[in-house]
Amino acid sequence: MDIHSLARLRPTAFLLREVVKMAWGQTTDTARTSIRDFLCSKLFDADRKMFPKRGFRSALDVAIYTLQDTPQLTFTKLRAWTCCDDFLQLDESRVPEIQSYLAITLERNALLIDAIRHIFRVRKTVLSPRSCTRGQACTQTLKYGYVIIDRPPPILTIFCYYRKPDFQTRFKLPIVLQLAIPVHGLTEELEYRLTGCVFFCNGNHYILRWMGRTDGRILSFDGLKNGGHPTFVTTWEESLGRESMPHMVFYQIQYK
Ligand SMILES: [Zn+2]
Repeated sequence: MDIHSLARLRPTAFLLREVVKMAWGQTTDTARTSIRDFLCSKLFDADRKMFPKRGFRSALDVAIYTLQDTPQLTFTKLRAWTCCDDFLQLDESRVPEIQSYLAITLERNALLIDAIRHIFRVRKTVLSPRSCTRGQACTQTLKYGYVIIDRPPPILTIFCYYRKPDFQTRFKLPIVLQLAIPVHGLTEELEYRLTGCVFFCNGNHYILRWMGRTDGRILSFDGLKNGGHPTFVTTWEESLGRESMPHMVFYQIQYK
């Protein structure tokens, strides 16, 4: 990344870069406090109403603002059509959408993987084809879906919203996502692995869990426990109650 692209990064994205560069477990309490204060002041500068100096801020709004336009998370999608000739035509009447995350509304026990596949699923439509290479033989079986027109994001970020919370069954995050996503004219078989999650607990508290970089162990951070220091857990859902729900989920692409 050259200096000009760095200058275009928002201060919050720049801060994130600096945090990622730091050695895990070696930041002091003072350093963490100053990072938090700097983030809060930049958020306040950006939107005083959404990010007030004091009081509660929505973790989701903070994440959306901070992560937006981060190259690792961003991908560009565009609507595309195929007719019975299976010839992919990009819908040029639309503006390509640049996205940093997938927003998904789930029934409490719906499978996350199905919801993600649904976004990229090819749908049948009743609209008449614009142009088909089969001419008179055209069966007018037009379908549309979304195509990624740059590259799949190295980190796939999912923000989960819930309909009808049902706390009887524990929500279980898939460790691996096998996805077939149209990229340009081809369907790419992609594998993403769970790398981090923010759980929303008891309606007012967040617990952060992420995969350690070197040993593959899962770290857990709960600001109310263990003096605010991370601990290790063996599974993503360990010691979380049934009312804990994944709120922001991060998957890392596995290159083969
Ligand atoms: Zn056709």
